[in-house]
Amino acid sequence: MAGRDPILRVERVKKYFKLSVGTVRAVDDVSFDVREGETFALVGESGSGKTTTGYMIMGIYAPTSGRILYKGTDISVPAHKRPAWVKREIQIVFQDPGTSLNPAKYVKDIVALPLVVNRLVEDSREIEERVARLLEAVELPPDIMYRKPRDLGGGEKQAVAIARALAAEPRFIVLDEPTSALDVSAQAKIVSLLMRLQRERRLSYLLITHDLSIVRNIATRVAVMYLGKIVEIGPVEKIFKNPLHPYTRMLLAAAPVILREEEELLPRDVIPVGEIPSAMNPPPGCRFHTRCPFVMDECRKIEPKLLEAEPGHYVSCHLYKEQPVSQ
Ligand code: SF4
Repeated sequence: MAGRDPILRVERVKKYFKLSVGTVRAVDDVSFDVREGETFALVGESGSGKTTTGYMIMGIYAPTSGRILYKGTDISVPAHKRPAWVKREIQIVFQDPGTSLNPAKYVKDIVALPLVVNRLVEDSREIEERVARLLEAVELPPDIMYRKPRDLGGGEKQAVAIARALAAEPRFIVLDEPTSALDVSAQAKIVSLLMRLQRERRLSYLLITHDLSIVRNIATRVAVMYLGKIVEIGPVEKIFKNPLHPYTRMLLAAAPVILREEEELLPRDVIPVGEIPSAMNPPPGCRFHTRCPFVMDECRKIEPKLLEAEPGHYVSCHLYKEQPVSQ
C-alpha cells in the first residue's frame, strides 16, 4: 500500500531544447508527485515528453526551469552534481536490455558494478555472494553470473538489468518502457517480478510507458501527457473507469483488448486520428485541438487549466468547467 508522503516532487518543470531551426518545448510546465511505495505512471505517445521527464528525474537532463525534489532535496541538476546518496537511491531500468547491458561483460561484473561503485562490498567473496542473492531476488539461477548477455533470453536480460538496479539498494526506480522489448510471456514475468520486488522492498516506481495494459496492472496513479503537458492525472481505477480528456479516451480506444468485459468499457466516441504535432511549434490554445473531435472556438485560443473533476482526478479540457463532473 502506497504511503501518503511524496518521495519525489516535480514542480512546474520545463525542458526546452534549443536547435538551429527553433526551440523544442519537450516538457512544458509539468507538476506531479510520487508517493512512497507507489507506482506512478507517465503515459502518452512518442513525443509527449514522458521520457524527457523521466530523464530529468534521473539527472540525464537538467530542467530548463522548475524544480525536482527528492526526499526534500533539490535535485534539479545533472546527475554528476547530485549527492552520492541520491545517485544511489534513484536507479533506472531501460527499455532494451540488449543495449543497456554491456555485451563484453559477464553478468557477475554487470550486477557487481553498483556494489563496487557505491562501496557496498568489502572483497571478491562478498561480491559473489551479493550477486548470487540479487540474481535469486530476480528469479535467476546463480550460475547465470558466468554468462554474457548474448547468451540470455530477453526476459532474462531484463531481470539482470533489474538486479543491477537493485544492487545499488535504491528507493526509487524509473522504469522506462520496461516490457516493450519483450515477448508476451516475458512481459508477464517481468511485471509480476516488479510488483513483488516493490512489495518486499517498499520501492517507489516511476513507470514511463505507452502501454496502458501494464499501467492498469501495476500503477497506482497515472498522468497522461500530450505535447509536453499533463492533460489528465489521477488514480488508475478512476482514469480507466471514467476517462475524461478526449486524448485519454483516444489512447484507451486504441489499446489492445484482452477481455470482452474490457471491450465493453472502452470509450467509443474518440477514434484515434492523426499524428502528434511537432513540439517545436505546438498548436495554440489546447494543444490537442488539431485532433480533437469535440473542438470548440475557445479551444483554439485559450489553453485549458488543469482542474479537479472528482477527488484526486484532474483534467485540462474546456469541456469540464470549475464544477465537479458527475458521470
Ligand atoms: Fe478537445 Fe477543446 Fe478539450 Fe482540447 S479543450 S481536448 S480541443 S474539447
